[in-house]
Amino acid sequence: MAQLFGLIPAAGSGSRMGGTLPKQYHALAGKPLLGHAVERLCAHRSIEQVFVVLAPGDAHFAGCDWRACGDRVKPLYCGGHTRAASVFNGLLAIRDLVHAADWMLVHDAARPCLPAGALGRLIGEIRSEETGGLLALPVVDTLKRADRDGYVVGTEPREQIWQAQTPQMFRYRILVEALRLADLADATDEARAVEKIGCKAKLVMGDSRNLKVTYPEDLDLAALILGNLRREEDADEPAAAEGTLQAHP
Ligand code: C5P
Repeated sequence: MAQLFGLIPAAGSGSRMGGTLPKQYHALAGKPLLGHAVERLCAHRSIEQVFVVLAPGDAHFAGCDWRACGDRVKPLYCGGHTRAASVFNGLLAIRDLVHAADWMLVHDAARPCLPAGALGRLIGEIRSEETGGLLALPVVDTLKRADRDGYVVGTEPREQIWQAQTPQMFRYRILVEALRLADLADATDEARAVEKIGCKAKLVMGDSRNLKVTYPEDLDLAALILGNLRREEDADEPAAAEGTLQAHP
């Protein structure tokens, strides 16, 4: 049966956060953002291993405390110039460890609040698919198109428009093929590369708490969400564990 693996590209600099510390190492509730992202994936029992793609000269990862994940987290020092290049390099680095039909769950290091329920839903809905899919949310705001001076020139229809989140879950073989053919400077997520080779990715209802930390002020919101999630998941532990088990056929 196809196995599941996590892959977290964490080789970016996160310049919008300011300062010199890469975004994935900014502290949130006592640990780096990356630590939360890895732990949220490791919490799902059917994910065999979580690979973390780091910049070749990364000096921070080794100093972090990874004991909570046991031996399931593995660093790969092969990040590239773009997110897609980092993912592609990571996939090539593990080619002897995974099979073509295995599932890769690619998750941003900057999404520390992935709810267990959303992860379980993704795995449960995608495992029976041929290609894969991703967490996403239907757009709720009205969409305005602007001119270069910041004035509204039109209102865009929002029906059937979804905002992509991560994890994005695809068969290893399809992801490698899609990224091999993609413009790695242009592919902002895996799903885009997969679309371009003509494969259909399924949308799975995401969660607004699965926010991507981009600006320093996002850290306060992420801390609040994380606190609430922990309380909710602790209170709900038997049900959550059952949900996780249901995801393993
Ligand atoms: O910069 P942005 O928030 O879009 O980055 C999304 C994810 O991609 C982050 O986890 C970041 O570390 C990663 N990334 C990467 N290699 C790059 C650029 C971004 O692994 N060259």
